[in-house]
Amino acid sequence: MWYICGVNIEDMENISITTNIASMAYDELSAEQRELVDRAKAMTYKSYAPYSHFRVGAAIRLESGVIVTGANQENVAYPSGLCAERTACFYAGAEHPDDKFKAIAIAARDTSGEFCAEPIAPCGACRQSLL
Ligand SMILES: [Zn+2]
Repeated sequence: MWYICGVNIEDMENISITTNIASMAYDELSAEQRELVDRAKAMTYKSYAPYSHFRVGAAIRLESGVIVTGANQENVAYPSGLCAERTACFYAGAEHPDDKFKAIAIAARDTSGEFCAEPIAPCGACRQSLL
């Protein structure tokens, strides 16, 4: 028998979460999807990352069609700061609380300043927040 914080986990509801991910080349994307990717890439230039030099941008399209954006924001109290995904997520929640997320694009530039060729997976905290 296992307990987490005094709760018998055998009594907990078992929830399964599935995330579908599609991998496509930029030219295979729809115009709407390319717009979201372009906005995420543009946001990497608004990143404040003087410590990691890893610049990330995110763009979330809401069901209304509105796009909200974010960029990672580091702080002198590093690693306190906020990822691009949560910056956009929380901005959307504050400004458009009744609008659901439809899609998110995330772009990153590495320490050389080049866009990363491979997809950048959100960190665990961002995944939980987005969920
Ligand atoms: Zn994150």
